[in-house]
Amino acid sequence: MSTVCAISTPLAEGGISVIRISGENAVSCAAEVFKPFTCESVEKMQGYTCAYGQIHDGDKTVDDGVLTVFRAPHSYTGEDVCEISCHGGIYVTKKVLRLCLENGCEPAQAGEFTKRAMLNGKLSLTQAEAVMDTIAAQGEYALASANLTRQGSLFGQIHEVTGDLVKLLGELAAWVDYPEEDLPAVEETALRESIGKALSVTGKLIADHDNGMLIKQGIDTVIAGKPNVGKSTLMNLLLGYDRSIVTEIAGTTRDVIEESAKLGELVFRLSDTAGIRDTEDKVEKIGVEMAEKRLDECMFVIEVFDTSVKPDDDDIALLEKVKASGKRSLIVLNKSDLESAVDEGFFRDYSENIVCISAKNLDDRSQIQAAVEKIFTPENYDANSTIFANERQKCCLDKAHANLKAALEALDMGETLDAVTVMIDFAADSLLELTGEKATEAVVAEVFSKFCVGK
Ligand code: GDP
Repeated sequence: MSTVCAISTPLAEGGISVIRISGENAVSCAAEVFKPFTCESVEKMQGYTCAYGQIHDGDKTVDDGVLTVFRAPHSYTGEDVCEISCHGGIYVTKKVLRLCLENGCEPAQAGEFTKRAMLNGKLSLTQAEAVMDTIAAQGEYALASANLTRQGSLFGQIHEVTGDLVKLLGELAAWVDYPEEDLPAVEETALRESIGKALSVTGKLIADHDNGMLIKQGIDTVIAGKPNVGKSTLMNLLLGYDRSIVTEIAGTTRDVIEESAKLGELVFRLSDTAGIRDTEDKVEKIGVEMAEKRLDECMFVIEVFDTSVKPDDDDIALLEKVKASGKRSLIVLNKSDLESAVDEGFFRDYSENIVCISAKNLDDRSQIQAAVEKIFTPENYDANSTIFANERQKCCLDKAHANLKAALEALDMGETLDAVTVMIDFAADSLLELTGEKATEAVVAEVFSKFCVGK
């Protein structure tokens, strides 16, 4: 396999940059561009050692830096790997990369280092995916799940289940194919037990997937309410800095503004919309239509009301609309610093999640956080054991789960073992695709296409 190189740090000005080289000629390439001051020669460097020295282009100095050497198979990719750290300037980093390319390396493709690690048996496909999840993690829960998967927990669980199913398939095949051989019949209880275990493992992972999506991608949230109730002020409170225009003239937030806010471990993708109300103003009407569309699409609605005035028809229309949609919602009774004109009990008919705050009061942010954590944190959530499967993995889990269920139903209906075998076979195939043990090249290529270059 060729020797490849790439810049592994973001291409922006920073303290240091790392150029990574992997492959048979990694050490000889590094030796061409790096002159160590702290050891005799690059070629003689052992694995897991580093040297301070000079990066040079022929007799011209390019930069000072540090070279770290990893010897195959004890490296990230399983090949010889050299990492050159230089000063984190864009020009100098690109120059070091170019030197490597001129000295025997080819440019690495997106995710190529991790792909090589997988091909060299260092990582399973699910572990490779978890590398990306680790990089993308925005909070503790997402990071904990990525770490579990990277450490092999998902692979281990699925591998064990698949092992059981494959063993069972072997016994079933022998029994079905060689009836005259007097082989022991496959016990139906053992069969049901194996299927049951596989169903419970896949079922739990499927159930946790949705929460994982919320935690990884953020909760698609709309802040809804009439003009002037304090939506923009609330959005700014949640974001922690001034983002949208706040004025006292009704109807000023005419476009849909989107931002992400983190409340505890939960990330909310917030849209502050134009107030939803009947209007004759053409521009405002477009804003209202956009707001209604966002309301239909979103996953969570924060309904804002001004407690200093009595709810009117527009307020009630919003409450009714959200209630009818069945979406998760939080009612924010805003402007609690003013004299209240509303009865909180009135809102209880529409949602059990109500907070009474002043969006102008920074301290009230914690009330919103407590309320949304109650709505979204899964019951009995345990960050030490919960794995969030990604979309690809979830697809494989769904297929496996459906076939396992069908196999149990077939057993219940007294179908032949032949038929049951086919379904278990499909289920095992999907699980082998999940772990990558039986994934097609196209699937693997798709996974790595989402990586960044240098990873
Ligand atoms: P929006 O049209 O719903 O986005 O409302 P804004 O956020 O623009 O707020 C409308 C007006 O209400 C502004 O003058 C805000 O300063 C004011 N406002 C917002 N929240 C509060 C609050 O908690 N208390 C008081 N007294 N005024 C508020």
